[in-house]
Amino acid sequence: MPSRLQSILAFFVGPLVILCITSGCVQKTDDGLRVVATTPILADLAAQVAGPQVKVKSLIPAGADPHTFEVAPSVARVVAEADLIVANGLGLEGSFLGVIEANKSAQAVLVILGQEVAPGGENVDPHLWLDPRLAAEYVKRIAEAMSLVDPSRADEYRQRAAIYIEELRQLHDRVRQQIAGIPVERRKLVATHRAFSWMAHAYGIEEVGYLVTAPEEEPTPAWLAELRHRILSQKVPAVFIEPYLEAEDQALSQLAEEVGIKVCVLYVDTLDDKVSSYLKLMEYNAQELVGCLGG
Ligand SMILES: [Zn+2]
Repeated sequence: MPSRLQSILAFFVGPLVILCITSGCVQKTDDGLRVVATTPILADLAAQVAGPQVKVKSLIPAGADPHTFEVAPSVARVVAEADLIVANGLGLEGSFLGVIEANKSAQAVLVILGQEVAPGGENVDPHLWLDPRLAAEYVKRIAEAMSLVDPSRADEYRQRAAIYIEELRQLHDRVRQQIAGIPVERRKLVATHRAFSWMAHAYGIEEVGYLVTAPEEEPTPAWLAELRHRILSQKVPAVFIEPYLEAEDQALSQLAEEVGIKVCVLYVDTLDDKVSSYLKLMEYNAQELVGCLGG
């Protein structure tokens, strides 16, 4: 039974509005740009450029590991409806990038940021965004891609990108100052998977070793012994696990307990309620590095 309001509206404006009331108008109010990103971090960067009128969706949900996440078949439809798709590449999304390429519409733009910013072999650490200067390069390319897809708002996209890039510059300065406070001989990193090459390079941290190269791998006993040797001989003050890699984190925590050093946490591939934006992720990581490595 239509409500009284629906009957009145039907009289004045016709059945289309009724459909809209009963279906909740979810999609109808926004005929604007449809932007999707593979991960919540890339979705956050894209949202900074897109502005509040565009909702940017992350295809891989917050809290999930993009290296091993298995996408639901329904994601293909979301991909097919997108105007702009933002991905990282360099192996981060595994086989999911192939699903995107197979399902995107012919006129949609797919921008593979890591591949564009760090062209080169397959053996590149894909986590470029952990250096805010490279995150700024991502943002520039997102703004260009968005302007290409929606030229009528190109100036807005470029303006918002410029404002956010300035925030990233300030973030980089803050993190650099914080890390500079850690004595050089304690700036040593042992973490779950090989994700911190760019961050380590940006802030003068030595990568002593990782439990695994990528989360889908398992460490061999020989490698565990080597990592233990490096931790002890280089007097590494702590290891860093990730909140969303349970099995690997257990193995690394156990190693840290055996040699009697601290277990700390770094955010890398995803966001959650506690660390809900890229800026918060970098600030969290800087504080954790200072708290766990600082003398
Ligand atoms: Zn990763």
